[in-house]
Amino acid sequence: MADSFDVIVIGGGPAGYPAAIRAGQNKLSVACIDEWRNRDGSYAFGGTCLNAGCIPSKALLESSELYARAREEFAVHGIRVGEVGFDLAQMQKRKAGIVKTSTQGINALFKASGVTGLQGHGKLLPGRRVEFTGADGSKRELTAKHVILASGSVPVELKAAPFKAPHIIDSWGALDLETVPKRLGVIGAGVIGLELGSVWRRLGSEVTVLEALPDFLTIADQQLAKEAARHLKKQGLDIRLGAKVSAARVSGDAVEVSYEDAKGTHKLTVDQLIVAAGRRPFTGELLAAGTGVELDERGFIKVDEHCRTAAQGVWAVGDCVRGPMLAHKGKEEGVMVADLIAGRYGEVNYKTVPSVIYTVPEIAWVGLTEEQVKSSGRPYKVGVFPFLASGRARAMEQAQGFAKVIAAQDDDEILGVHIIGPMAGELIAEAVLAMEYSASSEDLQRTIHAHPTLSEAVHEAALAADKRAIDSINR
Ligand code: FAD
Ligand code: AMP
Repeated sequence: MADSFDVIVIGGGPAGYPAAIRAGQNKLSVACIDEWRNRDGSYAFGGTCLNAGCIPSKALLESSELYARAREEFAVHGIRVGEVGFDLAQMQKRKAGIVKTSTQGINALFKASGVTGLQGHGKLLPGRRVEFTGADGSKRELTAKHVILASGSVPVELKAAPFKAPHIIDSWGALDLETVPKRLGVIGAGVIGLELGSVWRRLGSEVTVLEALPDFLTIADQQLAKEAARHLKKQGLDIRLGAKVSAARVSGDAVEVSYEDAKGTHKLTVDQLIVAAGRRPFTGELLAAGTGVELDERGFIKVDEHCRTAAQGVWAVGDCVRGPMLAHKGKEEGVMVADLIAGRYGEVNYKTVPSVIYTVPEIAWVGLTEEQVKSSGRPYKVGVFPFLASGRARAMEQAQGFAKVIAAQDDDEILGVHIIGPMAGELIAEAVLAMEYSASSEDLQRTIHAHPTLSEAVHEAALAADKRAIDSINR
């Protein structure tokens, strides 16, 4: 095998592996180094996303949702089934199979685009040299014209609640539970905490979510957040806001949690505690002295808008750099960098990175929240369309939530689209495309949407922004 490449990518998650594939498509010689190891010690490309994040969480969300719907909705549809139960071992087996198919797929993609996959540790040395350490501890020095750092992120460990498996666990541990905890605590009502809390709630846990901030889902439009809180509480998630965890310790087979809120100190006893208090960039053993790559005060690798680090020919993408910690954001950065290296055009439009929370109802948005638009001072108009008025949503027995379009009063530009409801994560793609093309709400209004589809809700919300909705009363 060659020791010299046009491009070496360190990290094979959703930021790193697409960068390697695009470099291969651009006819550059490329190696991708990744050290992810499964619990059985085997290597797997795909990083957090495929092995312990996006994919396994969505597999369990799907299984647990089907179970909940079979229990609660089938009778409404007139479907009689016997007693509905579930087999957690089978759910976990299905999830593991999906993860394996996904991660093995990367090997095939690498082969097809000429990427050399190297499983082991990569460390950047000065002068675009990379030290590769294989599984057996042997070391080799590789050189490259360009190095792309894509080392990702890891869960934040709280001093107040240090990890102590099997009782105090991170999100990976929470995806691998073999039994359903009777009482489950979750620290953090962020995206990960709400998704994992939903999975185990649907399967029968009494779930208490402790969130330090006084408001719910502060990253989302607050009209959406209020609607989400209402539904999640109805599903039985006990969400306590303004509740900062100050201590958690394992006592026998339980966890004693202390938290502070406006009223004082409280105690909570749970069987297991998931710490979902955020993620931090991971750069452990990544950079030798003298590489010239700089970190910011929070540990992110410093980059410009094109993901160039301070070191010539060294780039960084994904969760290890600024911006939202999302797989698709990392993917676009990886692809951009591989294209720029090849002398092609590349750009990431950070204004149109969509966010999705895979709860029920699903939550998705792109662009500015109403609060952000309001504080910008730009006059705006809002159109809201409830899924209750959507024939398709009613037929699906999922007429919950709404679509909301925010557009500028002056030139009608779409500033933000916010959806809570069935398949919101799919519906948001239309809004992303519209905003990518700087569409106006009138552009959306004049676009034909098939009937009856959920996508009509976005159409009608755009019409509602001008009080011209047809299928709901304009307010
Ligand atoms: P990672 O996926 O963390 O990959 C980095 C890789 O680099 C790892 O394999 C790591 O082992 C390897 N590595 C690091 N350092 C070295 C080194 N020195 N040498 C060799 N290899 C190294 N995002 C979404 O967009 N949608 C979702 O639905 C979603 N759900 C999530 C659910 C959960 C439970 C979690 C935890 C995360 C979720 N995320 C989701 C976030 C998403 O997983 C991350 O944003 C994404 O994985 C970041 O990609 P990355 O390639 O930057 O880093
Ligand atoms: P995210 O960063 O979106 O994954 O969300 C993590 C959430 O955890 C944030 O909303 C934090 O406010 C919350 N959080 C962090 N530390 C604590 C703590 N000690 N107690 C309760 N919530 C916390």
